[in-house]
Amino acid sequence: MIQAPRGTFDILPEDAVRRDYLEAQVREILGAAGYRRIETPTFEATELFARGVGEATDIVQKEMYTFDDGGGRSLTLRPEGTAPVCRAYIEHGMHKLPQPVKLWYVSSFFRAEAPQRGRYRQFWQVGAEAMGSAAAETDAELIVLLADLLAALSVRDVRLRLSSLGNPETRSAYREELTSYLRAHEDRLSDEAQARIDLNPMRAFDATDPRTRETMRGAPKLLDRLDDDDAEHFAHVQALLDDAGISYELDPTLVRGLDYYTRTLFEFTSDALGAQSGVGGGGRYDRLMEQLDGPPTPACGWAAGVERMLLAASELPVRPELVDLFVARANGDRAGARTAFELAQDARRAGLAAQLELAGRSLKGQLKHADRIGARYVAIVEDAEHASLKDMESGDQRELEPTDVIPVILRGSRLS
Ligand code: ATP
Ligand code: MG
Repeated sequence: MIQAPRGTFDILPEDAVRRDYLEAQVREILGAAGYRRIETPTFEATELFARGVGEATDIVQKEMYTFDDGGGRSLTLRPEGTAPVCRAYIEHGMHKLPQPVKLWYVSSFFRAEAPQRGRYRQFWQVGAEAMGSAAAETDAELIVLLADLLAALSVRDVRLRLSSLGNPETRSAYREELTSYLRAHEDRLSDEAQARIDLNPMRAFDATDPRTRETMRGAPKLLDRLDDDDAEHFAHVQALLDDAGISYELDPTLVRGLDYYTRTLFEFTSDALGAQSGVGGGGRYDRLMEQLDGPPTPACGWAAGVERMLLAASELPVRPELVDLFVARANGDRAGARTAFELAQDARRAGLAAQLELAGRSLKGQLKHADRIGARYVAIVEDAEHASLKDMESGDQRELEPTDVIPVILRGSRLS
């Protein structure tokens, strides 16, 4: 038996209903703030991600599905959405539009990871990107919009961590300072932290070893080394979030190891999720557009995992699927079949949700089926002139001509 590939899943109709609800919330919340939908191709030139996500990241090092297109060109199934959206911004000359250009997407992404709850090889993300604005209001507004989306989906036990990365220049000076501090206190660090001093000194902040943690309390923090402009930007973002009533924890250890990430960085987690607690995150990437040969363009954005939001969401108020009319057949008459077929089409054109008997059931079977799908009315078609209409709520039934079925339902008149 052929099964879905490891780490992938089918979205069955029951699941699709919750996703539709999520997408409707995204459309409403982001749409109201002037964000418009964009969708980019499922695969892109591999180089886009090598340059736009970063050669040194786990994604590029280990997680990409890369293939040759048969003509010697290397393509990759998109592992994330920011680099493709920047590529589209540059390719379509969007810098000539009124700025910022505000876009959202709901798309599937691909990463070769070890599958587990909340971690898949094909998964969906909602993303929002605002390109062409350096204003702190943009960062704060994006954070508020994601908080609003999580609230609208009643995602449980949400926490927000916030930091600023400053700029690449102050960051590399800080990295040297931190490295010297770690070297000077090497005997008080775990083996693991010692081994990472040169590779990734920031990781020492995540250590669980008590002596390492104690040592790190005295270590210099990037947030204390921001230059004046970056510090001012960050203070402004925080003030706006405070005014908006959004609570957050400052977390100087939040990192994103790439040179073109700048200033604001944030992540929403949900304690309802267990190990894979990251629900969504993002930040500012003022240097990315240049990295992709575009015009210098400050930008900010986030991405949130659809599966993780749904896993952490409470019961969603999804509406039941209504069936106004089920068109049944009283017999096997050929002309009656055509009348029934036509009645179902006409009912839909009149705005009713109408389903037609398609499985050759007996009349009794058809009524049972209509009841199971929750049909409000059943039209039992005999031939072109004769039918009867049954109100499934009251049980009342009356004979009429097939052409009268729709007007009677629309008028909501009593059948007896
Ligand atoms: P993680 O730490 O869980 O690996 P990440 O840092 O790789 O997350 P991002 O690249 O920032 O995640 O993606 C944003 C969001 O997309 C995550 O917060 C998560 O909700 C979701 N996500 C990322 N990778 C996966 C995956 N393999 N399966 C399902 N959702 C994912
Ligand atoms: Mg990851």
